[in-house]
Amino acid sequence: MTAQLIDGKAISAKLRAEVAIAAAQLRTRGIAPTLAVVLVGDDPASAVYVRSKTKAAREANVEVRDHKLPATITQPELMALVAQLNADPAVDGILVQLPLPSHLDSDAMIRSLDPAKDVDGLHPTNLGFLAQGRPVFSPCTPKGCMRMLREVGADLAGARAVVLGRSVLVGKPIALLLANANATVTMCHSKTRDLAGEVRRAEIVVAAIGRPAMVLGDWIAEGAIVLDVGINRTPDGKLVGDVEFAAAAERARAITPVPGGVGPMTIACLLENTVEAATRRRAR
Ligand code: NDP
Repeated sequence: MTAQLIDGKAISAKLRAEVAIAAAQLRTRGIAPTLAVVLVGDDPASAVYVRSKTKAAREANVEVRDHKLPATITQPELMALVAQLNADPAVDGILVQLPLPSHLDSDAMIRSLDPAKDVDGLHPTNLGFLAQGRPVFSPCTPKGCMRMLREVGADLAGARAVVLGRSVLVGKPIALLLANANATVTMCHSKTRDLAGEVRRAEIVVAAIGRPAMVLGDWIAEGAIVLDVGINRTPDGKLVGDVEFAAAAERARAITPVPGGVGPMTIACLLENTVEAATRRRAR
């Protein structure tokens, strides 16, 4: 392997330490940054994720209020809880763990969030600010990707960046953040005609597709920076990304592993957004 490994565990630990300092400073002013976490149902992956969020929050001096709701909850009941959290002056950020059970309307729930407490950055108002180039809360995984690029000294201005995937959660916001940072961005998806050709031209590759090792190592240009957002479980239970890691690492200048790459950045950025929400709300 010749590429620099972009260590998400180390970078996220550094970010969480920064957040802990900012949160401690708020606490000296009597403000305890508080994140309300709503978990609907008993999806085991979501439960694990919520537990690790809670642990990281406590270590970063951020209060967590857990709201566990049964999978049978109705849309009006969920909306009533969101309305209550929107109105609660002690709550700075609200995170409703996605995906929701299929009988619930996630988009309606997201639209009902107070944008000032939308620390996941998915409310149309926050996505609109991002599209305007003046983000308030950026979605957490894309924000984590940008921090990783900063940490490896990526020169984004004018760089050819290719984003694989166009979801509202990951691909689109990453493309906007890269464009806001003056990269020349191409966004690819399942209808893209020549994915390999697009990737071959890229100085920065962000893969957010959700297909194991779909991006072949020899697609990666010599010296490119590769962020692999994909998290896929192989039949033998291993976690792998969207990029053929070993072969890509022979060509890239820097690359994220899976696991231990982009994944840990998401929670750290959620906490950063929560402390920013607390700071902004008290400044109003
Ligand atoms: P989605 O399924 O919502 O989006 C996948 C995107 O990939 C779509 O835009 C789709 O295109 C595109 N795509 C699918 N197949 C192909 C193909 N053959 N060629 C080109 N593009 C293709 O997934 P998410 O964006 O939510 O997540 C992507 C990956 O990132 C997943 O593995 C997920 O687990 C991971 N993830 C990791 C996070 C973290 O690290 N913390 C957080 C969130 C996600 P089209 O739009 O045309 O359908």
